[in-house]
Amino acid sequence: MNPTFKIDVAIIGGGIAGLWLLARLRKRGYSALLIESDRLGAGQTLAAQGIIHGGAKYGLRGYAGPTADAVAGMPALWRRCLNGEDEIDLRGAALLADHQYLWATRAPTSRLVAFFASKLMRGHVEKLAEGGMDAGDYPPVLRHPDFHGAVYRLDEPILDVATVLNVLAGRSQDAIVRNQGPAILKADGNLTLHHPERMQWVVRPSVTVLTAGAGNAGLPWATLQLRPLHMVMARGVNLPGPLYAHCVGTGDVPRLTVTSHYDASGRLIWYLGGGLAEEGVRRDRREQIRAARRELQALLPWVDWNPVEFAAFTIQRAEAHQHRGGRPATTGVFRDGRVIAAWPTKLALAPLLAEQIEAMLPTLGVTPHPVDLRPLAEWPRPGIGAYPWDREDLEWS
Ligand SMILES: Cc1cc2nc3c(=O)[nH]c(=O)nc-3n(C[C@H](O)[C@H](O)[C@H](O)COP(=O)(O)OP(=O)(O)OC[C@H]3O[C@@H](n4cnc5c(N)ncnc54)[C@H](O)[C@@H]3O)c2cc1C
Repeated sequence: MNPTFKIDVAIIGGGIAGLWLLARLRKRGYSALLIESDRLGAGQTLAAQGIIHGGAKYGLRGYAGPTADAVAGMPALWRRCLNGEDEIDLRGAALLADHQYLWATRAPTSRLVAFFASKLMRGHVEKLAEGGMDAGDYPPVLRHPDFHGAVYRLDEPILDVATVLNVLAGRSQDAIVRNQGPAILKADGNLTLHHPERMQWVVRPSVTVLTAGAGNAGLPWATLQLRPLHMVMARGVNLPGPLYAHCVGTGDVPRLTVTSHYDASGRLIWYLGGGLAEEGVRRDRREQIRAARRELQALLPWVDWNPVEFAAFTIQRAEAHQHRGGRPATTGVFRDGRVIAAWPTKLALAPLLAEQIEAMLPTLGVTPHPVDLRPLAEWPRPGIGAYPWDREDLEWS
């Protein structure tokens, strides 16, 4: 007979949502086991730009909607965690930047001004002194005499996402297993784990939480939507230093969002999302790279973009289904009996998602029971996945 393992909560999927939930449940005394079929963060999490949104960019629609409210407290919460001052201790994880910028190429529209006036009062946004090259607070690339836009500093830190995964996984190594292939959830609520050389194990959780991103597909009671993005990366000695900024145009989505990272060889990478990535799903790889070059040339014409190399890839954002495929306002959490399916919608919202799921457990009669995880000591453990700029299958040109 297959060995059986009883546990309070089984978590399927080791992106930010599953790892944060695991940390929170263990902290509260629940026995929890996270099951990953690939590598940790291999879905969307390591492809994220790492921005801990404080809600500023949602105001581009001209109102402070529910998304803005849900995310407003996240920068402060993440900072407390990074300083070891909150329940989830993320000391050891790194920020790439403490804040980011928002820049408008021309005088901001009245809608933008009205929005920022309200934000300035809430302390999330600070308008920086104008003056081109003399504007010492501007990000270095915008300190140029030919730059004539407005620059705002947003209270939005940028995470080095892999370091966060490392800290979360490192603290819960004993409770994370790699399963050969997808975990099979049976009608009786049991899960079967497949070991490469050994017998199958049966896990009997009181509750199962599916945090598998796009892997949560096919549930009739929790439908997901996939929103594609065509992300672009740039590298080369001509890149004018790191930049963390949204460039706003007239639309709801920033025209371009730039974050900066370092690849395994220490080379600076500009990671380009925003409107470029959303509209870019209609372009093939070559067209998308051409569009990225055009956009950078138009926005930062004083940089010589010719020697810069580019790569592009498509990826799907997995979220709870919305009417007409719109953007979810906040997290998506659904339950069918003792199975919960959840999407954080944003990396930044993983703490909120974990709180929501934990609050459901007592209502399902689940109370914390410690479990000895040593029987699983020999089980394979998943490593951390690769950042897009370290992927070997992408062509740079
Ligand atoms: C290009 C891009 C940029 C983004 N930028 C930001 C940003 O700057 N800020 C922000 O807040 N959010 C951002 N997001 C959104 C954010 O990345 C996601 O909301 C978040 O990472 C989702 O985390 P997750 O854990 O739910 O899913 P995922 O990260 O997709 O993790 C799911 C995990 O489940 C595993 N899995 C799948 N199927 C199974 C199975 N059957 N059994 C076991 N394991 C399974 C996968 O291997 C994977 O490890 C971005 C998203 C994208 C795509």
